Amino acid sequence: MRYWALLLTLLAAAPSFAEDGGTDIVRGKLRQTAGQAPAIETAAGKRVALSGDEPTMKVANDPRLKDADFEVKGRLEPDGHLEINHIHIPSLFVYRDGKRLQVSYWCDVCYIRTSSPGKCWCCQKQTDLDPIEPEP
Ligand SMILES: [Zn+2]
Repeated sequence: MRYWALLLTLLAAAPSFAEDGGTDIVRGKLRQTAGQAPAIETAAGKRVALSGDEPTMKVANDPRLKDADFEVKGRLEPDGHLEINHIHIPSLFVYRDGKRLQVSYWCDVCYIRTSSPGKCWCCQKQTDLDPIEPEP
């Protein structure tokens, strides 16, 4: 009986695994202030604090993206902060020369692409920030 209860719980939870995450979009300058959560400062001057999973926050805290023209996708919470979608959903974009690019990292030794900054899992080299055209 316990197995059935567990199975039913898993089935009930399944739709939330399949969902594509929030659809709220905030664009502006990515502000990184010591001791504070990273935030997007919109063109209207409003600051929207960001939160998300660990690899997502590594991107939001990447000093190479400080003050970049940035766009995040997720869910605006009642307290005004934006919960960024999980890292497996493309939700972090940077604008360069008017082009919207997906934040991405690249190891030019191993030709391995990752979506979060840090050491390459293969050769341990620090990956390069290398935004790409968004996946269709
Ligand atoms: Zn590598």
